[in-house]
Amino acid sequence: MKKRHVLLCSLFLLFFACAQRYEFEATNFDQNRWFKGNTHSHSTNSDGDAPPLSVAHWYKGHGYHFLVVSDHDTLTDVASMQSLVDSTFILIPGVEVSASNRNVPGRKKTKSLHINALNVTQTIKAIYDTTIIGTLQKNIDAITAAGGLVQINHPNYRWSISADEMKHLNGYHLFEIYNGHPNVNNLGSKLHPGTERLWDNLLSSGIKVYGVASDDAHTVAGDFIPLNANPGRGWVMVHAAALTTSDIISALQHGKFYASTGVELTRLSIDQDTLKIRIKQRWDEAYRTAFIGSNGLVLKTTEANPAVFTLSGNLQYVRASIVSSNGFRAWIQPVFVRKKS
Ligand SMILES: [Zn+2]
Ligand SMILES: [Zn+2]
Repeated sequence: MKKRHVLLCSLFLLFFACAQRYEFEATNFDQNRWFKGNTHSHSTNSDGDAPPLSVAHWYKGHGYHFLVVSDHDTLTDVASMQSLVDSTFILIPGVEVSASNRNVPGRKKTKSLHINALNVTQTIKAIYDTTIIGTLQKNIDAITAAGGLVQINHPNYRWSISADEMKHLNGYHLFEIYNGHPNVNNLGSKLHPGTERLWDNLLSSGIKVYGVASDDAHTVAGDFIPLNANPGRGWVMVHAAALTTSDIISALQHGKFYASTGVELTRLSIDQDTLKIRIKQRWDEAYRTAFIGSNGLVLKTTEANPAVFTLSGNLQYVRASIVSSNGFRAWIQPVFVRKKS
């Protein structure tokens, strides 16, 4: 009788395990269709130091496949740079909609509520509401209404945008986990979480948002020194069918990219429940990969290449953050775990 009971229990558990099927929402990448791009840069049309054509020329000349010149509250006309566009390089129009908290009653300091509108064909004027959340949401809505893809910029610049504020927003797909400008406080402080913690806070709240690395380049003609906002510091590698604006924007919107400051991936795959990240070996550099889950919990760290992680159904999401022995970084987008319907 007891044996039969055990057998029944085992069968039940087996059935239960089979019934609890999960799938992992992510895309397999190989190295053939990754396009390198920067979604955030400035020209003399706002506070950059070089004309738009010179900015685009720098990026094309340094192996980028696409660029967004995102001047403050100004649409820089990509038609003026068409001489650079060919099968290896495209320009995606954009604007950095640059609001602040100036209309918020009782404000103690100025905050920069900057949002990039990617792939818009008109200038979008910043809207100022009486709350930070209201200001951000109204600008997000204006960008969306204009057909643009929304990227929240440098949340820690002037310690401007908190995770609690971002949790109340709808309609954004991207935010900057890394911005190359020297004043943006990517790593946070005792009082303010760094951008990776902000990201985990949002993801753990069920918000599907993808992390971008960008330059926010302002100094292209001037000196290349750490305290200038030079190009070439942070970028995205986008997995797209073709180098067209619509394919790149669609891939960004759906998280088919990784962010980098110098670590390059050659392959990202999910086979059954195995997530595998193959890193391009540069000289004798070492790579430490952290697999991170809900609330920023580090689930595994490894220096193996490829870095491998076994996914399971009791996770909400897993993302990977890679740091090299030279301080370069890469971040893959979160792999979301969901029950099969
Ligand atoms: Zn900005
Ligand atoms: Zn900017």
